[in-house]
Amino acid sequence: MADENPNSPYRKVGIVGGGTAGYLTALALKKQIPHLEVTVVESESIPVIGVGEATTPLIVMFLHQGLGLDAAEFYRVVQPTWKLGIKFEWGLPGDYAFHYPFDRNDSWNAIQQTGDIRNGCLTSVFMKNDKSHMLRSAGGSKLTPIHNKTNYAYHLENECFIGYLRSKLKDAGVEMRLGTIQEVKLNEAGTAIDHLFSPELGNLSFDLYVDCSGFRSVLLEKAMGSKFISYADSLYTDSAWTVTRPNNGQPKPYTTAVTMDHGWTWIIPVRTEDHLGYVYSSGFCDDESALAEMKRKYPDAIDPKLVKFRVGRHEQAFVGNVMSVGNSFGFVEPLESTGIHMIISTILEFVRNFPKSDNDVTSRQTINTTTNATWDNIRWFLGVHFRFNKRFETEFWKTCREKVDISGFETIRQLFYEKGPFLENGIDENPDYRHLGRYTIFPWNAFDLFMLGQGELPHEVATKIPAKTRGDLANKAVVWDQIQLRALPQNEALAAIDTWPSLVGSRN
Ligand SMILES: Cc1cc2nc3c(=O)[nH]c(=O)nc-3n(C[C@H](O)[C@H](O)[C@H](O)COP(=O)(O)OP(=O)(O)OC[C@H]3O[C@@H](n4cnc5c(N)ncnc54)[C@H](O)[C@@H]3O)c2cc1C
Repeated sequence: MADENPNSPYRKVGIVGGGTAGYLTALALKKQIPHLEVTVVESESIPVIGVGEATTPLIVMFLHQGLGLDAAEFYRVVQPTWKLGIKFEWGLPGDYAFHYPFDRNDSWNAIQQTGDIRNGCLTSVFMKNDKSHMLRSAGGSKLTPIHNKTNYAYHLENECFIGYLRSKLKDAGVEMRLGTIQEVKLNEAGTAIDHLFSPELGNLSFDLYVDCSGFRSVLLEKAMGSKFISYADSLYTDSAWTVTRPNNGQPKPYTTAVTMDHGWTWIIPVRTEDHLGYVYSSGFCDDESALAEMKRKYPDAIDPKLVKFRVGRHEQAFVGNVMSVGNSFGFVEPLESTGIHMIISTILEFVRNFPKSDNDVTSRQTINTTTNATWDNIRWFLGVHFRFNKRFETEFWKTCREKVDISGFETIRQLFYEKGPFLENGIDENPDYRHLGRYTIFPWNAFDLFMLGQGELPHEVATKIPAKTRGDLANKAVVWDQIQLRALPQNEALAAIDTWPSLVGSRN
C-alpha cells in the first residue's frame, strides 16, 4: 500500500521528463499520495518521442477511475477513437487475417464451428464489420453504448494527449520547471543521487528522483549505471518509418498490424487520418528500401519520419533513490501497444510499494521483481508473433521462424501442444498452471489465439475437447451477427458522443 505517512523521509519527488511517462507519474503520485511535493523538470530543447498512440484497456480505467479525469471532457479535448482490439494481417499467406479483441475470444470453437477464428466473441464480430460498440435500439430512436460489457482502449493523437495531461498538472498541485538536466551529482558512495544541475535552474535537490527522460535514460542508465539488457535475440526490429494518410473521417475501430517484407506496419486510425508506422530490422533492410516499400504499399502516405530504437530493459527500475518509468527503463516494439500500458502498470506498482525510507529494501525488490518479470514476459509473448508468422518467405521472416528466441515461453508452448487449446481444456482455470501466468499482461486465451491464429495446432486436439464445450458457439455467432447489425460505425458513434456527452458510459 502507498505510504501516506506525512512524516515519511520521502516528501520531495523530482520527475525528469515531460512526456507521457512524466506527466502520468506526476498525476498519479499527487492523486494517491497527496502529501508528496511533486516537481516535473522538462527540457524545452529535447522533444518528446511523439509516438505512442495505440493503447490497451488499462488506460480507460487508469485515466477516469484512477486519476479521476472526467471522460466527457477527455473526449471533447483529446478526441480519442476507440480501439476494440488489433486486426492482424498475419500468420498465414493470402488475404487471411485474425483478430486479437480485448474480450475473451473462443478461438478454437470459432474455427471448428464457424470456420472463422474472428467469430470468437461479440467484440471480434464488431471488428469484422467495422462497427463500434454503440447500439441503436430496435426502433432506431435510442442509442446505448455497451461500454460496460465490452473491453476497449483508445487511439490517441500523441501531441494532443500530452497537451491535455500537461493542462491537468497545475490543478493537481504539481510544480513545473523548464530546464535541461546537464549534470547528475551522486553522493560520495555513488549509491544515490545527491542533486541535479541544469543551466536554467541551477542545482535541484529532491528526496526521490523519477527518470522519465525517455530513451536517454539520463538518471537510471547514465548516472546510476543500471545495465541495459537487450531483447534483440527475440525481437529483431530497431527502426520505424512513420507516415499519415487521410481516412475520410471513417476511422476503423481497431489497430491493424500488417506483415511487411522486413517487419510490419501499424495502422492507427484517429478522427480524420490514419497514422502508420513501418517497423523493420536494419539488419535486413536499409532505411531507403524500407521507405520505398512503404510508399509502394501505401501510395497516399505522406510526411515520413524515421525513428530509431533499441529493444530491452534495464537491470533494475529502482536503484538507490531513483525510480524509472517509461522508455527510460524499457521498450519493446509496439506490436501489442505495450508502451503506455507498461507506463501505467509500473506507476501502479510504484505507488502500491512506495518506499518508506532509504532502508526499505523490500519495496524496491518488489517493484524490481514485478517490473522485470512483466517486461520479460512481454518479450517472450511478442517473440511468438514473429516465430510463427508464416505469411512471407523473405529472409527476415525465414530467419524469424528459425531463430527468434522464445525460450522463456517454452513451457507454455509445450503445454499448448500437449494440452491445448487452453480455454476449452480448462487450463486457464486450473490452479496447477497459475504460476505460469503470474507476471503476464496477456490472458490465457491470447496464447490460444496467437498459436491458432498463426496455424499452430495442439497434438490430438479433437479428441481432448469435451463434447459439451463444442455446442453453442455457432448459435452465439448468429446472435452476435444480429447485434452488430444495430451497431453504429465509429464515426457516427463518436459524433453522437460529441452531441450527447453522457453517452460515454458509466464505466468511465
Ligand atoms: C516507433 C515507436 C512506436 C510506438 N508506438 C507506441 C504505441 O502505439 N503505443 C504505446 O503505448 N507506446 C508506443 N511507443 C512507446 C512510446 O514512445 C511511449 O510509451 C511513450 O511515448 C512514453 O515516452 P516517455 O515519456 O518515456 O519518453 P518521451 O516521450 O521521449 O519523453 C521524454 C521526456 O524527457 C525529457 N528529457 C529528456 N532528457 C532530458 C534532460 N536531460 N533534461 C530534462 N528533460 C529531459 C524530454 O524533454 C521529454 O519531455 C512507441 C515507441 C516507438 C519508438
